[in-house]
Amino acid sequence: MANASDVLLKDVNKIYETREGKQLHAIKDVSLNVEKGQFVSIVGPSGCGKSTLLNILCGLLPSTSGEVLIDNTPLVGPRDDLGIAFQQPLLLPWLKIIDNVLLPVDVQSKKRSDYMERAMDLLELVGLKGFEKRYPSELSGGMQQRVGIVRSLVHDPSLLLMDEPFSALDALTRETMSVELQRIWKETGKTIIFITHSISEAVFLSDRVAVMSSRPGRISKIIDVNLPRPRSLDIMNSDKLGVYANQIRKEFDLEEKRDLSSRIS
Ligand code: ADP
Repeated sequence: MANASDVLLKDVNKIYETREGKQLHAIKDVSLNVEKGQFVSIVGPSGCGKSTLLNILCGLLPSTSGEVLIDNTPLVGPRDDLGIAFQQPLLLPWLKIIDNVLLPVDVQSKKRSDYMERAMDLLELVGLKGFEKRYPSELSGGMQQRVGIVRSLVHDPSLLLMDEPFSALDALTRETMSVELQRIWKETGKTIIFITHSISEAVFLSDRVAVMSSRPGRISKIIDVNLPRPRSLDIMNSDKLGVYANQIRKEFDLEEKRDLSSRIS
């Protein structure tokens, strides 16, 4: 049985105090249920509170109100069994690939020997077998991003949070990485919460897509994606995927109109 968590957000709010002493309602009444082993994306325009939500899920930022439950346990701070992949892979240039991959193990003072085999298996899974002793500068952007993903998985986390992990990649590499991530997800069985502003990427990868709107950030719609798996790149521009993408776009347009009319009235 794969090591995977379920996540429940209940009426989560975050109000920041700005430097001018004003209150900024960054996310409002966000509720979301992610089941064990599910792939859920959160899409929304910039400034809608995606990073705020992610930081709350990481246990790094306290919410103002509401509750986050991971496996029915309230989240009160950072957890060891969490994997995080960022927009940039953030590899340390002076460390070899294998040492970069094993960083979470070192940081958590775990025994390297217990994780070496897993690290090598994961590198093989992402097509980087034989690159263990290389340095990050010897790898392409796509390869470095794969190392970042391997690092986020090396300590066998039960939940993987991904913050626009492909945004720095060119369009072609980005699509290839989506297929690869789908495969990694299937083989590892992890629960994944994936943040992106790419609608097609979200639909392609996800079981469910949560659409966020801004001012304040709310989940305005949750869309179940019932496309068969495994999904190949052919469907990226297909009508089947387009139907879901259009639903999401419509939701954005509706939100824009609501926002405009609330500012006019
Ligand atoms: P996104 O990741 O979707 O771009 P963010 O979560 O970064 O959105 O930001 C949501 C809103 O909260 C924005 O209006 C942003 O300016 C504001 N915000 C983010 N962090 C802070 C902070 N530390 N203090 C005050 N306002 C913040």
